Amino acid sequence: MRIVVLGAGESGSGAAVLAKVKGFEVFVSDMSAIKDKYKELLAKYDISWEENQHTKELILNADEVIKSPGIPNTAPIIRELEELGTPIISEIEFAGRYTNATMVCITGSNGKTTTTSLIYHIFQSAGLNVGLAGNIGRSLALQVAEENHDYYVIELSSFQLDNMYNFRANIAVLMNITPDHLDRYDHNMQNYVDAKFRITQNQTPEDAFIFWNDDPIIKRELDKHGIQAHLYPFAAMKEQGAIAYVEDNEVVINEPIAFNMEQEKLALTGTHNLYNSLAAGLSANLAGITKEDIRKALSDFKGVEHRLEKVARVRGIEFINDSKATNVNSCWYALQSMPTKTVLIVGGTDKGNDYTEIADLVREKCRGLVFLGVDNSKLHTFFDSFGLPIVDVKSMKDAVAEAYKMAEKGDTVLLSPCCASFDLFKNYEDRGNQFKEYVRKL
Ligand code: ADP
Repeated sequence: MRIVVLGAGESGSGAAVLAKVKGFEVFVSDMSAIKDKYKELLAKYDISWEENQHTKELILNADEVIKSPGIPNTAPIIRELEELGTPIISEIEFAGRYTNATMVCITGSNGKTTTTSLIYHIFQSAGLNVGLAGNIGRSLALQVAEENHDYYVIELSSFQLDNMYNFRANIAVLMNITPDHLDRYDHNMQNYVDAKFRITQNQTPEDAFIFWNDDPIIKRELDKHGIQAHLYPFAAMKEQGAIAYVEDNEVVINEPIAFNMEQEKLALTGTHNLYNSLAAGLSANLAGITKEDIRKALSDFKGVEHRLEKVARVRGIEFINDSKATNVNSCWYALQSMPTKTVLIVGGTDKGNDYTEIADLVREKCRGLVFLGVDNSKLHTFFDSFGLPIVDVKSMKDAVAEAYKMAEKGDTVLLSPCCASFDLFKNYEDRGNQFKEYVRKL
């Protein structure tokens, strides 16, 4: 049986290794250049590959194709494979076939990485044999091929979920659903929503589905997807249906094991992070981790880089790097958690943004705005009438300098761009790192 892997990044190269180890004939094809470290991995396992092209004769004869999440379904080679009826699956789907580990899977529009990292931190601190996989960490497939974990904590994007069919999550977490990536879903929100709900498919009554009880879209959709799993909704406050919440400044989890801790002791602050902590606490509780271990890990977690990361305080001005805020909703949560007047650095590659969601918070909290992007016209159209000071810049160096000028003592400068970074930066990490570098040089 011939397996062709399309895309040779972290997930593709890992999938190729697992396929090889399981005795398949494997070929890897990437439209771009393959990084040296992945070439070395493929060489180690004697796997043949090509880069900068897709040779049809070597691909269309596949019995099954494993597609990297970065390749859109509209890519010509995918269309051709679909016409031939070749099964196309994701790396996670493939890896899931070869492990009996307990799968804890996290998806949502925002908060995935934070929640996934936090769950991993709790499991690891409690001494469980756990692997971190999906969008962060090393690929699930490579870990299944080379290691043997009892638990995997997996961050799943909607793109990964798109090509999952028989995979079963023992604990599924859906943080929230707000518009994102609509350019890859025919600008049809329902397609994106359906992709997110795929996390519950194949779950049985022994499995758990953890979700935010107050998300309007999840609420509306909950009954439509034939969910079999036991439901574990969480909410900021005690309310009907919620199993985890805050009451009298105590974090409470009612099931399966009664749990409580002081909210003040949570390492992560802000409303959005309360949701992340509740989802993580529930997951750990379901895995049977003791109250003491959960309490300790929820209170000593260090946070994740580029997510509301405190950089420095310079002459009374706090600088916060939230470069990972690549959509409007995550910027809303960032602004909402700001305790002071804020200079907001915003802009980049627009993914079809509607800034209405943050309009009130910008009016209420912002001292001024710095537009950082190649094309800021959409931002001007929306925000110019607010009467706030606005500066246009085209580099992070200028963005930091202008924001510093605009801010007053006691203010916060927040990089929370609402947009992807590809117009001026390699990726959001590059954007966040440049921000930190120029802040430290002030
Ligand atoms: P993801 O992996 O889903 O992109 P991250 O954990 O990387 O999410 O966080 C991205 C941004 O979203 C953060 O910078 C933060 O401002 C915001 N955020 C984090 N958790 C949540 C949440 N539960 N709800 C809404 N926004 C959130």
